[in-house]
Amino acid sequence: MRSTQSFEVVIVGGGLGGMTAALSLRQRGLKVTVLEQAPQFGEIGAGIQTAPNASRILLGLGLRKQLEAIRTEPQDQVRRRWKDGSIVGLTELGDFCKKRYNAPYWHYHRADLHQVLTDACIDPAGPGPVVELRTACRVVELDRSDPRRPIAVTEDGRRFAADVVIGADGIRSRVRDLMGLPDTLEFSGEMAFRALIPGDLIAADPATRFLMDRFQSTIWYGPGRHLVHYMIRGGEYLNVVGCVPCTDEVAEKWTVTVDADALVNAYSDWDDRVAAMLSKAKDDVLAFALYHRRRDPVWVDGRVALLGDACHAMLPYQAQGASQAMEDAAVLAEELGRVTADGIEVALRRYVDRRAKHAGMVQDASLQNKTFYHYPDGTQQEVRDDLLRRGFDGESD
Ligand code: FAD
Repeated sequence: MRSTQSFEVVIVGGGLGGMTAALSLRQRGLKVTVLEQAPQFGEIGAGIQTAPNASRILLGLGLRKQLEAIRTEPQDQVRRRWKDGSIVGLTELGDFCKKRYNAPYWHYHRADLHQVLTDACIDPAGPGPVVELRTACRVVELDRSDPRRPIAVTEDGRRFAADVVIGADGIRSRVRDLMGLPDTLEFSGEMAFRALIPGDLIAADPATRFLMDRFQSTIWYGPGRHLVHYMIRGGEYLNVVGCVPCTDEVAEKWTVTVDADALVNAYSDWDDRVAAMLSKAKDDVLAFALYHRRRDPVWVDGRVALLGDACHAMLPYQAQGASQAMEDAAVLAEELGRVTADGIEVALRRYVDRRAKHAGMVQDASLQNKTFYHYPDGTQQEVRDDLLRRGFDGESD
């Protein structure tokens, strides 16, 4: 549905949340400019999963053909015990998701997904005005002297006025600070290693070949740490995320490139197949300190609003951070798309009313999984594994 009157939106931040919002708003007929601080648009070299809630939104943007060209479809999600790899839980994905949720569970390389969104934003044949994408635009100020026409100001003094400014600028959101909202970030004490392992190395080793089976998405649970892996680009890479207690260096610097041995050593007493897998990681292992936000339902002030990690950063223990940002984008576009410029404030309030409670529940559930995934050996772990065997799959939706 087209908006009844076109107005201008500036989005600060061109990550997966900002780009999904840009495309969704474009399709409602709104004029959108995205300001990205980086010298070029893109994403880090890592995988991402979209459960049906997010896949449905991406497909609703008319991207089926493009997504089918880049996605890998896992057939199941497997949960394994750290010490011996025994399977404690198995959830069918594949056709089951499509039948039950009418949308697929897919994996991608982040860069591929970001590229699909970017291409659709600037495709001259797409619906609505082409999105203006600006790189090297680091927003440092908001001028709200005219509250109906907020202006995003970049560090080199350029000024971008609009009817609405959306802060999609991630976990360390500058827009959030400029709105005067409280600092809700909390350190989890944990960090995530991220690595891409060439699929041909995995396939060539009899000890790890099983990881190619049905493109399964796997979570290994162990005391104080867990490990997630899944194939992307049809088996070109195994994407690995290892969540472990954070080192002082990573806690201080947030993101650090580490030696691949650090990843192997973090799981040295686990099932031998874990070492066989992780020792194939060669370079570019990144370690990210994991922060999350306390729930805070204030996402809007006048004509400035937040979206994604800027308002509800969560631990990646449900693989829902970007997916929730995509849900924000869909609802934001729906609400802004149905008003004229005079209704912007009301539309933004409706956006928050529809989104904040649900995103907050996902934040909480992701945090609870830190405990659920990491029980030490003993009774609680046995009870958890028993629940998993009987089909309970954690605090996920
Ligand atoms: P970001 O992706 O952080 O994008 C913010 C953008 O804003 C960046 O491009 C940045 O350069 C730009 N920016 C920042 N400040 C400024 C400024 N002042 N001016 C201009 N531009 C600025 N989620 C899932 O749904 N599925 C998963 O499988 C999944 N796996 C994960 C695994 C790990 C290990 C981690 C850590 C997270 C995972 N997530 C996952 C969460 C997901 O990555 C984030 O929630 C998501 O990327 C947030 O998107 P965003 O657009 O809000 O912010």
